[in-house]
Amino acid sequence: MGKALEKNIVKGGGFLFNHPHFTEIFIPEEFNDEQKMMAKATQDFIDKEVFPIVNRIDALEEGLMPSIMSKAGELGLLGVCIPEKYGGLGMSFNTGMLIADIVASTGSFTTAFGAHTGIGTLPILYYGDNTQKEKYLPRLSSGEWKACYCLTEPDSGSDANAAKTKAILSEDQQHYLINGQKMWISNAGFADLFIVFAKIENDKNLTAFIIEKSFGGITMNEEERKMGIKGSSTRQVFFNDTKVPVENMLSSRQNGFKIAVNILNIGRIKLGCGVINACKQIANQSTQYANDRKQFGLSISSFGAIKQKLSQMASKTFGIESASYRAGQDIDDQVHILLEQGYSEDEAKLKGVEEFAIEAAIIKVHGSDVLNEIADQGVQVYGGMGFSEEAPMARAYRDARIAKIYEGTNEINRILLVEMIIKKIAKGIFNLNDELDFFNTGMIHEGSFDAAPLSKEYKAIKDLKKATLMIVSKALNSFGTKINEEQEVLINISEMVIETYVAESTLLRTLKLINQSGAASAELFINLTKLYLYNAVRKSKNAGYEALACMIDEDKELDSLLTVMNKLTAYHHESTTKLSRNIADEMILQNKFPYTLYS
Ligand SMILES: Cc1cc2nc3c(=O)[nH]c(=O)nc-3n(C[C@H](O)[C@H](O)[C@H](O)COP(=O)(O)OP(=O)(O)OC[C@H]3O[C@@H](n4cnc5c(N)ncnc54)[C@H](O)[C@@H]3O)c2cc1C
Repeated sequence: MGKALEKNIVKGGGFLFNHPHFTEIFIPEEFNDEQKMMAKATQDFIDKEVFPIVNRIDALEEGLMPSIMSKAGELGLLGVCIPEKYGGLGMSFNTGMLIADIVASTGSFTTAFGAHTGIGTLPILYYGDNTQKEKYLPRLSSGEWKACYCLTEPDSGSDANAAKTKAILSEDQQHYLINGQKMWISNAGFADLFIVFAKIENDKNLTAFIIEKSFGGITMNEEERKMGIKGSSTRQVFFNDTKVPVENMLSSRQNGFKIAVNILNIGRIKLGCGVINACKQIANQSTQYANDRKQFGLSISSFGAIKQKLSQMASKTFGIESASYRAGQDIDDQVHILLEQGYSEDEAKLKGVEEFAIEAAIIKVHGSDVLNEIADQGVQVYGGMGFSEEAPMARAYRDARIAKIYEGTNEINRILLVEMIIKKIAKGIFNLNDELDFFNTGMIHEGSFDAAPLSKEYKAIKDLKKATLMIVSKALNSFGTKINEEQEVLINISEMVIETYVAESTLLRTLKLINQSGAASAELFINLTKLYLYNAVRKSKNAGYEALACMIDEDKELDSLLTVMNKLTAYHHESTTKLSRNIADEMILQNKFPYTLYS
């Protein structure tokens, strides 16, 4: 194994332009005892307070969800990342991710929890003044008050800054009168506090306000009848001359859109990470069902077609888990660097997340896609019972779907993440030409290292980066500043970027594990990595082909670039069947997801 390198300063999106060493990334096996204890307490909480009553929750039983939220607050789960001086536990960003991961398996409660602790609380934590923080954060952290976030309107969803809700300053200049209609508001039915985005008079940009329910002038429609997460409260909210004291403006006038974007950045990385335990639960249940269910005189788990699904569930979950905690720790490290540079705590935290906005979008898109794929496979493993409300897969399948829509749709996030990479290239933060020259000359980058026994996989990831940057370069040459109009190309590039980041995260995690305890004990992780990479390369190859076909009309040029693409995506594993069966056999033997992190 190569000599461990000092941790370089990691730049958001920088993974595409560098070859980090495994010592530079955090892996979830490195969570400390305190973090593991928090994970265990959260799991105990949901085992006791949520799982036994999921049907009652989904029936929207009056008062039930807020009472579970209050209990979560008593345990400290609503204030994990809120500083202790405001009644929270003052833990790191990555610990917040860990709690979001564990809560993930609870469907409706996941949404209620995420809306309260994320988009409902964070605007005050990051943008509130001291008085606002002192007044509201202890109540939100304890669960005494529940929060919601009101951005979306009937005519403004993805285009959030087009919102029409109005705020007019009163004649005595003591309060604003808010009028407007918000839509799809999670937790609205029981919230005590509303973060509301409105335009003051004829402003171009939104301003954010903290509105207490007791201010009055708030009415609501009935609960929405939804496809999934049926137990989460989702309502339209109307503000009718709601009188908001001027001191309840958050931050400054017209800073609301920036707040909304930055808070959604945090929300979306937690949402992406907040699928992991759901994926594990589906894998657990599918394995158990496959072991129990007999057809043709055999457990269906003995069939290759079922093993293939189980191993895919494990390898995809391993992928999103590896990527999420790598990014979460990069954010924490960035926050520390910024604090050392003299930034205030709030500024450091915000800038830390902002730096990794590309990774946040990657994790949101990939996490939600993976959850949906795994839920779909779960339904299939259950066969007819997968379609029945008597078994758990129907709910898992319905509940998964929303993750691709809220916190910025996956299309918007895919487009955004590529645009952010292109902006960083335009600003000179990353030099595309240098990188391509380096790739073309094949010189060994100083960050390269001996990755045995995964050298072939390490090379495959380097080739994926090269392929991705080749397409980015071609797109920039073809469309220049009009690249934003070529969404079909951007979406395909995003697929390559996402798969590269996740595949590399699995590889580096496994190399670290091998380094810690030897290849023999990391055999499962080696298999998970190889299977992940095999699929990542195939997906990237397809996306690369599509992108090129969208860009190039001329046969000769297309042929020549497709040939390069073929070479760069030539990775194969000698026997994917063997790989897949090894992983599935481990699951079948253990009757569950193949490894445990926080027992
Ligand atoms: C259950 C649920 C809970 C929610 N909770 C909240 C909440 O608590 N607070 C809140 O404020 N909002 C909430 N939302 C709203 C959610 O964030 C929006 O639904 C989401 O942002 C999409 O907006 P939209 O529904 O208006 O879809 P649209 O913006 O109309 O999008 C429709 C389709 O067009 C695509 N599209 C739109 N613009 C572009 C573009 N420029 N380029 C390419 N494709 C584009 C989208 O990707 C999507 O596929 C919730 C929604 C649901 C369903």
